[in-house]
Amino acid sequence: MSYIKQDFRCPNCKAKMRLKIYSQVSKEQIDSILSRKIFEDICDKCKEKIVLNYPMHLLTENYDIIYDPNEKVELTNSSTKCSRLCKTYEDFKEKIMIFEDGLNDIVIEFIKLFLWEQIDDDTRKNITELRYDGKNEDKLFFSCLGIAKDIFCEENFYLAIKSRAKIKKVGDYALIDSDTFKNYIKMR
Ligand SMILES: [Zn+2]
Repeated sequence: MSYIKQDFRCPNCKAKMRLKIYSQVSKEQIDSILSRKIFEDICDKCKEKIVLNYPMHLLTENYDIIYDPNEKVELTNSSTKCSRLCKTYEDFKEKIMIFEDGLNDIVIEFIKLFLWEQIDDDTRKNITELRYDGKNEDKLFFSCLGIAKDIFCEENFYLAIKSRAKIKKVGDYALIDSDTFKNYIKMR
């Protein structure tokens, strides 16, 4: 983990504060990324909660993700087998959950689209998007944002799709989302 300290003015009371900016983080910080706590601080003076948004590089043994909300990070070669770029916090969080559960993000995006197409038109109107939301022993869960509801598929379904899918090699720090995944997967 490495961080720099940066001077900042509280947007509420304008008091000067010094915030920690975590530029490179590891597995130990995952919980605080998922809870968003790592991006939060409290103003000493007025106790206002400050939520920051800045680039972060998460580096683990098996994968690494560059979170680049401002599209300013210069990308180099990755040292891991699986590297990704995320431009929104929601994508960053979902990507971490997928990889921490040992799943393939391209297959997950494929399943999200499949599940989306199973939802009836009336319900779909109220759903903004589907997001991977974790797994238990035999099911993968997806939250339907907009209607506060989870749907699921059997893990066996995931495994069947994965074994049938032909997945293209993914370059360093590719951006894989609900749109771009289509460039990387073909069903046999
Ligand atoms: Zn303040």
